[in-house]
Amino acid sequence: MSQAIDFQENRVKTGEGGIILTSVEDLLNWSRLSSLWPMGFGLACCAIEMMASYASNYDLERFGIFPRPSPRQSDVMIVAGTVTFKMADRIRRLYEQMPEPRYVISMGSCSNCGGPYWEHGYHVVKGIDRIIPVDVYVPGCPPRPEALIGGFLKLQEKIRLEHPIAPTLLLELEAENHIT
Ligand code: SF4
Repeated sequence: MSQAIDFQENRVKTGEGGIILTSVEDLLNWSRLSSLWPMGFGLACCAIEMMASYASNYDLERFGIFPRPSPRQSDVMIVAGTVTFKMADRIRRLYEQMPEPRYVISMGSCSNCGGPYWEHGYHVVKGIDRIIPVDVYVPGCPPRPEALIGGFLKLQEKIRLEHPIAPTLLLELEAENHIT
């Protein structure tokens, strides 16, 4: 019996006999967005809400999202909390240790723009995007777990539309004329 599966905006459908028709790119992107592994660390009070998002009430794992203990195993960094100048170098180093493709969610006002420290916080970086690129900004002080989940859904939408090969690798392959 044929059955339509609409999880890729009509791009993936089962045909007769349960055959799934899709492109390799869509299949790769679907698998990548369905198994995001954020790095497990937090910087300040926003991290409490991030931890609550993994707990049973909100259950981020139902979206395939589960924290990993190492940057080498992670493809998402959640910057949850106040970014001090002392931590900035460490965050940059952790980001560089993550394999590509990698993503950053900035969680909360402190990480987005310095938050309550915007005016007088001599020790606080006024936005993590001054150090590393950010894919999704989640507003709030702190954002609730629902807001972080919303941020992940936005990130999944972004990944769905990407080329599945990491941008830097794609550039290298193009330079070597392996793909056009
Ligand atoms: Fe704390 Fe608010 Fe800053 Fe989050 S945004 S780390 S809750 S002060």
